[in-house]
Amino acid sequence: MDNCLFCKIAAGTIPSTKVYEDEMVYAFRDIAPQAPVHILLIPKKHISGWSAVTEESDALLAHLMRTAAVIAAQEGLQDGYRIVSNCGENACQSVPHLHLHILGGQKLPDRMA
Ligand code: AMP
Repeated sequence: MDNCLFCKIAAGTIPSTKVYEDEMVYAFRDIAPQAPVHILLIPKKHISGWSAVTEESDALLAHLMRTAAVIAAQEGLQDGYRIVSNCGENACQSVPHLHLHILGGQKLPDRMA
């Protein structure tokens, strides 16, 4: 999508610190990290969020989730990590391109909300 920040990051027209890329997904470091390791993992295809997901994306989403675990291992998060994905206004989603936050590198708060 022309005017999407994360589409531009995946395309390389806006710079990012890449940690992983394949034909379907792209991962980069969050610009405002909330943990020692804070990575964003996105599908290259524009999907605005979980509410916009259809059955057509099942294979892509399975790949996205499995890749999150691959990246966590690559980042040395063997002591644990958290995968978070905000959807919509009440969850404070600020970028309307589906993404997973991979958070780790320290003991994370027990409460999630
Ligand atoms: P969310 O609030 O769940 O939509 O997450 C969006 C995330 O994108 C936030 O954690 C931001 O810090 C992060 N972010 C926004 N702009 C950039 C950017 N240019 N590069 C890397 N991360 C970004």
